[in-house]
Amino acid sequence: MRPTPGCTEERLQRLFDDYNRRYWRGRLPRYNVVISDKHWGSACDRRNRQVLFHPVVFESSSERQVRETLLHEMAHAATPGVHSKAWYREMKRLHRLGACLNFLLMSFKERRASLPCFCEF
Ligand SMILES: [Zn+2]
Repeated sequence: MRPTPGCTEERLQRLFDDYNRRYWRGRLPRYNVVISDKHWGSACDRRNRQVLFHPVVFESSSERQVRETLLHEMAHAATPGVHSKAWYREMKRLHRLGACLNFLLMSFKERRASLPCFCEF
């Protein structure tokens, strides 16, 4: 696995905007992508419109996994609850549209306990 130390907030923000256009026709509200050590893993903070990444995510994830994790959090921004049925449907919709989600979807049930997401907002 190739670590991705080059991930910056600017780059992740561009990815967010690109995915928003591509998969939500730009309809997701604007979220700021923030790299912060205040939350473990990654999270979607709906109240403050932020997608949070802990810096350690980039040490232990490939570029592809970082992209998948961003989409995972964006699906939270688009649906209520935490890993709800609506969220899972959204992930499947993204997958059908060609989004790169193999790592998170292939064995979702098995991975559920170890998902890198700590969405509690
Ligand atoms: Zn999640």
